Amino acid sequence: MNEVREGREMYFKNSPSQILSKIQGQPWFRWSAPMQSDESKRDQNLRCDYHNGVDHTTGQCRFLQTFLENQI
Ligand SMILES: [Zn+2]
Repeated sequence: MNEVREGREMYFKNSPSQILSKIQGQPWFRWSAPMQSDESKRDQNLRCDYHNGVDHTTGQCRFLQTFLENQI
């Protein structure tokens, strides 16, 4: 199976955190650029594994979603 397609299908079957742990070892995977704004001013309860920062959860991460969609 195509690895990229497999990654995209995982996105819909698993939680974003599970997917991230699986796809980060893939050769096509790229980490997001770090968020630039001050972390102390953001909601510390929201943490995105993809950005490795706070402001939203991994499940809300549009960058991760867009990244996966762009792999097709
Ligand atoms: Zn994110």
